[in-house]
Amino acid sequence: MAPINLYSDTQTRPTDGMRAAIASAEVGDEQRGLDPTTLRLQERVASLLGHEAGLFLPSGTMCNGIALRLHARPGGDEVVLDRTAHPVNSEAGSPAQLSGLMVRTLDGERGVFTAEQLEAALRPAGNRHMPRSRLVSVEQTSNLGGGTVWPLSAVLSVLDVAARHGLRTHLDGARLLNAVVASGVSAASFAGGFDTAWLDFTKGLGAPVGAVLVGSSELIAEAWRWKQMLGGALRQAGIVAAGCLYALDHHVDRLAEDHSNAQLLARGLASLAGVQLDPASVETNIVIFSVDDARGLVGRVADEVELQAFDARRVRAVTHLDVSREDVERALDVLARELG
Ligand SMILES: *Cc1c(COP(=O)(O)O)cnc(C)c1O
Repeated sequence: MAPINLYSDTQTRPTDGMRAAIASAEVGDEQRGLDPTTLRLQERVASLLGHEAGLFLPSGTMCNGIALRLHARPGGDEVVLDRTAHPVNSEAGSPAQLSGLMVRTLDGERGVFTAEQLEAALRPAGNRHMPRSRLVSVEQTSNLGGGTVWPLSAVLSVLDVAARHGLRTHLDGARLLNAVVASGVSAASFAGGFDTAWLDFTKGLGAPVGAVLVGSSELIAEAWRWKQMLGGALRQAGIVAAGCLYALDHHVDRLAEDHSNAQLLARGLASLAGVQLDPASVETNIVIFSVDDARGLVGRVADEVELQAFDARRVRAVTHLDVSREDVERALDVLARELG
């Protein structure tokens, strides 16, 4: 039997329905603005997130890279984000290389920092010794924080500090719709107040390729230049955009199942000897727990359950479209055998 794949929500395969939508997609030359499916997807995501315009990109990493570049000016600008944020840890140093940005990290609570922490980290204006605070970035949900949902009030307080200090604002919405489904707050309420925001289709939404960056028409026109420069301008992109549209129609409400499966997993894990985990901290589809020997455990169960060891003690498990409730129960049996 194939191992139960809790490694990441990026591990999903397109469903038959999604493959059918992909097979019948209307296509054209995306670089020339002639791919009708991609155009439809961009408009749909822009409106869903409460923004004027959208831009289809091959990956979320490119969304972050281009957005940070749009906001940064040459000459010592600084971006403020949580120490767990994706651009800090998983984008090969992109803020430094693509945008020449200094990175100022905050020590938030499971990926969520406060408006007070942001304000305290800002550089006094006009000080020529210091970098210039330029941009703040929020990650909804926080991946390395453990799928934490930023409450709307926390988002709005951060945006308020940013507005008072003239900062640009960016939302890494790789798993924004998980936050929407978990909280009942709309995507536009979470994302509408940021200068740029984006949504990933290759996480819980289960599409094979694609992300959409949104912002004002002016920012998106500028983003097009970077997309072209980085080789992100495509041809018959409707082939993959169709999978993303299909995901918006069929894979959003079902994220609630992933969340309840993650809850089941968390409660089961918390009852095992040697596991440190507070199930109440699991809000969406990511479960991070601590054991004495994370790498050893992940190696021992790998034939039956795929997990990711973050470091010597922490393990991450992620539920998604291809993980059923029965799979979670089976995974718990395996882990109980190893740890019990
Ligand atoms: C996965 C992820 C990204 C990058 O998205 P890709 O589509 O894998 O390039 C960025 N931010 C967060 C929070 C992520 O989880």
